[in-house]
Amino acid sequence: MKISINLKTGDVADSTPKDIIVGIDLGTTNSLVAYIVNEQPVTVKSKYGQRSLTPSVLHFNEDGSIVVGDKAKDYLVSHPERTIFSVKRLMGKSYADVSKLNSSIGYEIIDQDTESLVKIKVDNRFYTPTELSAEILKSLKSDAEHQLKTTISKAVITVPAYFNDAQRQATRDAGKLAGLDVLRIVNEPTAASLAYGLGLDKNEQYKVAVYDLGGGTFDISILQIEDGIFDVLSTHGDTFLGGDDFDRAIMAFWTEKHSISIEKMQEDPALNQALRLAAEKAKMVLSKENTFETNVEQYQLALDKATFENLIAPLIDKTIESCIQALKDSKLTTAEIDKVILVGGSTRVPLVKQRLAEFFDKTPDDSMNPDEVVALGAAIQADILAGNRKDILLLDVTPLSLGIETVGGLMDSIIARNSKVPHRAARQYTTSVDGQKNLRISVFQGERDLVVHNRKLGEFTLKNIPAMAAGIPKIEVAFILDADGILTVRAKELRSNVETSVEIKSTYGISEEEMALMLIDSIKNAEEDVKKRALLESINEANNVTLATDKFLIQNQAILTAEEIETATLLNAALKSSVKAGTKDDIEAAMKRLNDYSTPLAHKALDVNIGEALKGAKM
Ligand code: ADP
Ligand code: MG
Repeated sequence: MKISINLKTGDVADSTPKDIIVGIDLGTTNSLVAYIVNEQPVTVKSKYGQRSLTPSVLHFNEDGSIVVGDKAKDYLVSHPERTIFSVKRLMGKSYADVSKLNSSIGYEIIDQDTESLVKIKVDNRFYTPTELSAEILKSLKSDAEHQLKTTISKAVITVPAYFNDAQRQATRDAGKLAGLDVLRIVNEPTAASLAYGLGLDKNEQYKVAVYDLGGGTFDISILQIEDGIFDVLSTHGDTFLGGDDFDRAIMAFWTEKHSISIEKMQEDPALNQALRLAAEKAKMVLSKENTFETNVEQYQLALDKATFENLIAPLIDKTIESCIQALKDSKLTTAEIDKVILVGGSTRVPLVKQRLAEFFDKTPDDSMNPDEVVALGAAIQADILAGNRKDILLLDVTPLSLGIETVGGLMDSIIARNSKVPHRAARQYTTSVDGQKNLRISVFQGERDLVVHNRKLGEFTLKNIPAMAAGIPKIEVAFILDADGILTVRAKELRSNVETSVEIKSTYGISEEEMALMLIDSIKNAEEDVKKRALLESINEANNVTLATDKFLIQNQAILTAEEIETATLLNAALKSSVKAGTKDDIEAAMKRLNDYSTPLAHKALDVNIGEALKGAKM
């Protein structure tokens, strides 16, 4: 080891080279890697193409070897069945989530069991999306090692802000499989704003909208940057919306115009892919010019800019709706946004920029290459983690509320939607039955009042609770959401210290559409949900009261008169039947009648029992 001395300060400095931590943008369409040289982020050029973008495409050769990137993209038309693209859309997903994709891809997705994670079949082997992503990461790692002339073992990988825990976990696992220690999973919009240098000066303050329209995903995030702290106020988006959809809209326009049937497209995957590539080319040309023409097989294809803009206008409208929602969640107005940043290749489409400029009433910043900003920002994040920029902190948010099921199927939110992560929250519960030994804890994600309308993430049982009367155990349920958005749930009986915890790795992911639907449902059904919740709460309370009354009447037979017992029993029976048939008002009225009658009885019993206890103490 060499020792050097800083001549200015006299400090002894350790000059052994630090491990390089790379930043990786593992994209749906394109992936790339970046690192820091002389405090500036730069991208790695791929070994083959002289570009930094590696298409997220894999091709399986007949001998089982795999090629990744530009070389694999060449096989999309000739060998669609053994050339895999858009694997990121499949990360952490079940077959049921992605079955609708089947018509637009040339390779085979396997439906083994609709509940479990999807697999992709090539020849007679099955691959998980995680394994396939690992191949892309290996290729990026090798390109970086080639350029940097050193081994790379540590990385920061970015994901869309809306990736749920299953998808983040799958991404982390892919890194591990590729031989990378994944130090952090970072949201893409957060990385992009870092790349724009926002927040690197501690004295600056910004409210930023990051609009990221890539090939397969769309995200809008509202960030507040202050004192070197990045605070994601809100996020919204759609993991099924991107430039691929522009391509599909163009394809649909051409197939209709040239009467190419759906059957023909299904039977002829090569034609399908050739049209897809031509559509993408048309889109890119129309970002600069007004017309496009090409030939695919016998078809003469043409498209002009105005027609293209008509085709994609509804898709752009959807992204603007997300912007409205994200702003609403952040409680800001467009006038309060200081800066709008463009990320993702599809933001090169002029109509996108135009609509955004209109909506936010300011010109979006597109000064950086929208393909590269996320990877460059990931490299800066890596630099922060390496300890080179100590005064910067990153905070993200969770997109949906997290909670558990309580009596009657009610959702009890423990961590609210848009809470910052990392986050820890806990709440106390108890048992509802005497001597209850086990407590089942079901964890849900969503905004509705009843768990049936939300999404179950997992469940576990707290076992061996020591025997105690109902209501006595103090069970603390803690939710610990780490910086990557991965949730651990811990349940602990505080009197006995009996404890169980699970890391929630849901078996399959939730699509962006489902997430949007869940949010919309929660708003649409808010009034009805409140009513249902109120009714269920009355039923729960009534059940507790009837149980307690039964118990009270048995324990205090000696103290109460026959008439008191009879009246209380009748009122209790009336409450029980109101629970079965009644409305919330009926139940509350019956409960009030019983309470009014039995409260004096309870006081009487208490006095007698205390008297007995005092007598006992004297003896
Ligand atoms: P992802 O983050 O999903 O990997 P990228 O940010 O790399 O995606 O964006 C890829 C998308 O950008 C593709 O749909 C591609 O067709 C589109 N794209 C790239 N360049 C242009 C352009 N000049 N005009 C329009 N779309 C473009
Ligand atoms: Mg991207």
